[in-house]
Amino acid sequence: MRPAHAEATSRGPRHGNGRNARARTRACRRCCRAVLRRAAPPRLFSGGVDAFFTVLRHQEPIQSWEHIHIDDLIFVWGFDVPLDKPDAFDRTGRALQSAAKELGKNLVVVASNLKTTRLERDAEWGALWHGSGIVSTGLALEKRYTQLVIASTYSYVNLAPWGSHPLSDPLLSTLSTRVIHDDVSFSRAEKTEVVARSDMALRTLRVCWNARSERNCSYCNKCFRTMATLEVLGALERCPQFDRKRLSLEALSRLFSGDHNDRILLLEVWDLALRKGRSDIAEAIDRSLTRSRRMRKWVSLAMWLGRQPYVWRWGRPLLQRLRLVF
Ligand SMILES: [Zn+2]
Repeated sequence: MRPAHAEATSRGPRHGNGRNARARTRACRRCCRAVLRRAAPPRLFSGGVDAFFTVLRHQEPIQSWEHIHIDDLIFVWGFDVPLDKPDAFDRTGRALQSAAKELGKNLVVVASNLKTTRLERDAEWGALWHGSGIVSTGLALEKRYTQLVIASTYSYVNLAPWGSHPLSDPLLSTLSTRVIHDDVSFSRAEKTEVVARSDMALRTLRVCWNARSERNCSYCNKCFRTMATLEVLGALERCPQFDRKRLSLEALSRLFSGDHNDRILLLEVWDLALRKGRSDIAEAIDRSLTRSRRMRKWVSLAMWLGRQPYVWRWGRPLLQRLRLVF
């Protein structure tokens, strides 16, 4: 990718033609700053908890030195809403446009076919490349922005190997655009507490990658954790994006947490439930974690069966049955 700095210098008669190199460099830097600082940094915006938290927190910064003035929100069509679902994209785009308007931001829509390439087939999006995928979309606009804000997934306490990380995301910065990983000091449960104070965010909240539409499936792990968190905070009934009838203590206790990341995020909900006096939800999460530990070897077996010739048909039904939350 050609840096905007090189683009700006190549325009040049006003940069001079080479008699005084030092003076020319100074002039060039002044010029490039003027070109590049046209807009405050954008934030990649999907309408999820991390995205809303970052935007809301910088609307009213907790500390003045933490403030990043965000003008534009970038929504990428082709990531969680596939390119072959234009109706779902229209509905999602309208909902996010309305949210952006209430926040006083511009919604910038970018279409990307990155997830139709072999990357999607050969590498796991969440664990390996979603950070670089998201940042690459923002860097396509690097002539417009000097900074690009990407919301954190995990907090400092629970940092885990993941496709977006506070150590690796800034390394994707270019000469003209700095990538900011924001903000690792808040857990997902703490972020949800901030989001739950905003009716606008609750009306638009979209956390699910499974639904591939403007609503949440209310069935997957991420939906269940978010519904349980909102229930603890007393905000679930104000969030029409979820089918709250699906959340019960019985269903929560049968939630299967298959990997370390799932367990970390569920433990955050458990901790919040204890702090808020919802011992019933904390106990259901306890049962869920115990059950997950017992079932893990059976889930591994089902996944192994699914990859074997002749018997692969047994793997998927067994996996579905074991992971069933109802
Ligand atoms: Zn879901």
